[in-house]
Amino acid sequence: MEPLAEETKIGSQSEASSDIPTPADDKIQEDRKLLPIYEKKQDILKAICENLFVIVTGETGSGKTTQIPQYVVDDMRREDILAPLPEKSAKKYPFKCNDAYDSRMDRREVRAVVTQPRRVAAIQMAKRVAIESGCRLGGHVGYTIRFEDNSNPDTGIKYVTDGILVRECLMDPNLENYDVVILDEAHERSLFTDILFSLVKQAVIRRKGALRLVVTSATLQTKLFSEFFFNCPIIEASGRCYPVDVMYIDSHPEKRILNSVKAAIRIHINEPIGDILVFLTGFDECDKACKMCHEELMKLHESGKEMAPMLIMPLYGSMNTKQQNQIFQKTPEGSRKIVFCTNIAETSLTVDGIAYVIDCGLVKQKVHNPETGMETLMVVPISQVQAQQRTGRAGRTMEGKCLRLYKHKDFEKKMPKQTVPEILRTNLCSTVLTLLNLGIKNVIQFEFIETPGKESLLFALKQLFLLKAVDKDAQLTDLGREMNRFPLEPSYAKLILASNFYKCQDDMVTLVSILSTENIWIPVAARDETRFNKLEDIRKGFSVENSDHLTLVNVYQSWKDTRYSESFLRKNFLLFRAMKQARKIREQLLEISDRIHYKNVEKYFESALGLSDDGPTEKRFRRCMTEGFYMNAARHIKAQKEGTYLTAHDKIIVKVDRWSVFDMFSNYPDWLLYTELAGTMTGNKGIMRLATDIKVKWIEKKIPMLEKVDMERLEYAGDPPLHAGTKRTKIIMEKIETLIDQKKKEN
Ligand code: ADP
Ligand code: MG
Repeated sequence: MEPLAEETKIGSQSEASSDIPTPADDKIQEDRKLLPIYEKKQDILKAICENLFVIVTGETGSGKTTQIPQYVVDDMRREDILAPLPEKSAKKYPFKCNDAYDSRMDRREVRAVVTQPRRVAAIQMAKRVAIESGCRLGGHVGYTIRFEDNSNPDTGIKYVTDGILVRECLMDPNLENYDVVILDEAHERSLFTDILFSLVKQAVIRRKGALRLVVTSATLQTKLFSEFFFNCPIIEASGRCYPVDVMYIDSHPEKRILNSVKAAIRIHINEPIGDILVFLTGFDECDKACKMCHEELMKLHESGKEMAPMLIMPLYGSMNTKQQNQIFQKTPEGSRKIVFCTNIAETSLTVDGIAYVIDCGLVKQKVHNPETGMETLMVVPISQVQAQQRTGRAGRTMEGKCLRLYKHKDFEKKMPKQTVPEILRTNLCSTVLTLLNLGIKNVIQFEFIETPGKESLLFALKQLFLLKAVDKDAQLTDLGREMNRFPLEPSYAKLILASNFYKCQDDMVTLVSILSTENIWIPVAARDETRFNKLEDIRKGFSVENSDHLTLVNVYQSWKDTRYSESFLRKNFLLFRAMKQARKIREQLLEISDRIHYKNVEKYFESALGLSDDGPTEKRFRRCMTEGFYMNAARHIKAQKEGTYLTAHDKIIVKVDRWSVFDMFSNYPDWLLYTELAGTMTGNKGIMRLATDIKVKWIEKKIPMLEKVDMERLEYAGDPPLHAGTKRTKIIMEKIETLIDQKKKEN
């Protein structure tokens, strides 16, 4: 295979502009050759030429994310991909693959798309690769994440979040824009990456050889992947790993911040130079730890202790760009860097120069309980694989040490061997709606790499049925089709559609935008009494008595009235980053709603059609909320403690949040509706984060819907042989299964 020689290099360098630091170029190119993956470059390129599916594994930091796309785009040409596969490889596939139907040669350069489970990783990787290939970000190298596109149609290497590629599949199921798809960080098994395994596999099959898939993973658990892709080849890039000394310290999980700071300072005082990486569970913990660490060091300094200088910084997903760039700067000679990070540094982002890792052994994870419908962010133990990944961060460039803030016994007994894939633990409502929009008739039979189980899929179908996005036979409705145009959870998409008929669109789009960003309020600890009381007063000042949702709208509107003044935000404890993001999202949601065919969905909102728009918008808004969330209606239990409610549907006891306007003014209406429930998974009690006062007459017609869901019909619909006479078919199926079981026992 000749075409991979140096002279065939076609990477477009044309966009290199003068503001790119050229002197560093040679150094950068030399460094690239030192990465472990470089030794496998030719193997990887050859494998991609000769196979439709290839898996590449290698330790974090070996160069998978930054290098493979450049190898592919710079050193391959489209003819390499369109050329027939070697006979022995083509034979492996149970379909025709030597017939690249779109062999149009409108361009010769290869275009690659690389998925990342995290937004920050997509941005950072694109930035890094733009520097390495000496071009402007958004040109030859670019990225696209939800609500932000920094690429153009000719972008050769495009980093995207996996969610974005799923959405691109909707527009273009064959992914005709690309020649190579790289599903990165496959070991993370994020929900969308899991779905993409299947969607991209189908696209590769349909394009009969004109599209290649590369799956990259940091761990060696690749058998499952290889089997799913017709036993495709696995290429291992050997990481140069130095030994890491692992030590266990018994520490209470609640004291993880304090204990990790103490441990870090001990290292700083007693151990040779080398940077420290500390794994905590959330951005708030990282910020807190930074502050605490700073204070402790100041105390030591004041007591006259001599120490090397220490740079303290956090690393988490929602940091601003300047902070993020700092992380990658080399630590100045003679000083030490300490980074307090979330799970993001486990495998997505590599911080160089780490010699010490402190691992709290926990991670924040979204967990969904299909029985209660509760989705909660919970702090849970990491898996053993994750513990090893974290440890490995210490041994990349030198011998390292890892302090685990838990007992060895807990590592063995309390930590699951492997991480549970997201698809097995989250709400699949939005995913199922997307699959239906992709033309998949029976999602229960979709070829998942690991099936989430009937129960979760049925739960999602039921939610969609209640929203009228699917009909009784689990088939997509016109409403479901329009809902899917928004990159939002189905309920929120429905709110925006409904608001057009309830004549409150402006406010509803504002609400959904705010709910699509992070918490807008700057966090203030209760022990910081003065600031805490001030925040409380501010929040009271903005409140709209009968709705937390309208309160948020009011905050936004007040900001808008100041022409988006920054000092307004500062004065009112509002997070600039979040508000700016909300404003950007708002514009995009308005753009999408301009393209909606409202006539197609009018029939779903009959009750709103007669409404006049003279009355108060506030009432129409609250009524509109029931369109997306009537299943979250809850009735006040007067006999119980104030602020206790019972949900109409699942009969769960729920309570009003302490920051809710209802708690703030001790005003507890007969009926509330909530959009988000937090709480414990075990106890049947949840906290209604945001609630709105509603009238029972707005929902009483809908409530019976909740009782009338024919689960059996949802389950078997779209499944051709079982479609008719579902009940009978089910009985027959059960009989067959019992017979099979009996036969098995007899043998
Ligand atoms: P992998 O995907 O195998 O984990 P990467 O391709 O992300 O590896 O990283 C390869 C190397 O590039 C690492 O040594 C990492 O430190 C370096 N690197 C990645 N991003 C940046 C950045 N923004 N600035 C400086 N170095 C970076
Ligand atoms: Mg990577």
